[in-house]
Amino acid sequence: MKKIQMVDLISQYEGIKEEIRVEFDRVLDTAMFINGPLVKEFQEALETYLDVKHVIPCANGTDALQVIMMAYDLPKGAEVLVPSYTYVATVEVIALLGLKPVFVEVYPDSFNIDIEDLESKITENSAAIVPVHLYGQCVDMERLMALAERRNLLVIEDTAQAIGADYTYLDGKTVKAGTIGNAGATSFFPSKNLGCYGDGGAIFTHDDALAAKIRMIVNHGQSKRYYHDSIGVNSRLDSLQAAVLKIKLKHLDSYSQARIAVADKYDEAFRSTGLIEPPFRSPFSNHVFHQYTVKLADGVDRDGLNAFLSEQGIPSMIYYPVPNHLQKAYSYYGYKEGDFKITEALCSRVISFPIHTEMETEQQDLIISKVIEYVSS
Ligand SMILES: *Cc1c(COP(=O)(O)O)cnc(C)c1O
Repeated sequence: MKKIQMVDLISQYEGIKEEIRVEFDRVLDTAMFINGPLVKEFQEALETYLDVKHVIPCANGTDALQVIMMAYDLPKGAEVLVPSYTYVATVEVIALLGLKPVFVEVYPDSFNIDIEDLESKITENSAAIVPVHLYGQCVDMERLMALAERRNLLVIEDTAQAIGADYTYLDGKTVKAGTIGNAGATSFFPSKNLGCYGDGGAIFTHDDALAAKIRMIVNHGQSKRYYHDSIGVNSRLDSLQAAVLKIKLKHLDSYSQARIAVADKYDEAFRSTGLIEPPFRSPFSNHVFHQYTVKLADGVDRDGLNAFLSEQGIPSMIYYPVPNHLQKAYSYYGYKEGDFKITEALCSRVISFPIHTEMETEQQDLIISKVIEYVSS
């Protein structure tokens, strides 16, 4: 049996090695490392896959979020509503641009932004909402968009963990995560569901004017060469990363299916214990399982489980041990313990088990048996 990892990128590479080598040679033989034809090819392939008018590749998912916010030129101090229960990058860019992150609670089942709490936090200074499709499952976007329209707020989707996930409207229409709000941001960090072999990211939008502005910002605010109309950044996807992504995009749906199969098997085994609550499955979204994150019953010692698994050669992770409203970096905003009871409770009870596209039956059987051995002892 192979060594168990949270994500097995080496085994995945084995399956696409020949394809990757061919495309890498194309880049190396032409030395078009930046802005080469592969970047455009990948961009177009992703536009088709997502059925979105514009994909603007950039250097990473954090930049993708930042650049969207820069494009809207929000006034200093404008409030951006964001769940506290997310990866720090979502919050960081808001603060970095001199905007004010206003934290929102999440639902205890889906881990996604609580729309009632969101509504209660809207003020006259609110400018935008950043819903995060956490762990690979969509926020209830139909309700969120209706609220945003009613209150005249921008919606910037953080799709870093949910690329390829489908959101289904009440009328049955299905669209891809990240293409519903004014703009969506994603990350191609190696361990993400669509990951490259370094850093990468992209922005999605149907809005022509916004896309034009974003293309300018990611390229130093340049309108034509050496003419800079706005303050920009240097944020691009390089050709080698685009090559990897173009190939992996063709496999994305089968990769998602592989993750879902692993999750289905975990669900069944863990549910029977009564001590491990498997991830909730929303009626309006499929789940592409960037993470397989469960809630442990009150009596289960999470650190003990983590240590026990580690001794057996099984990794497990806590996403996330500290919510953003209690992070030292954001103490300036004055939040305190108890402000988000559900978020805080989740941070103390969740644990994530290995899930990836190359999980072997033997590996998963061992994980399941060791987890159950610990929780039922
Ligand atoms: C990974 C991630 C990001 C940031 O992506 P990078 O490419 O690492 O900058 C942002 N938001 C969420 C929810 C993420 O998981």
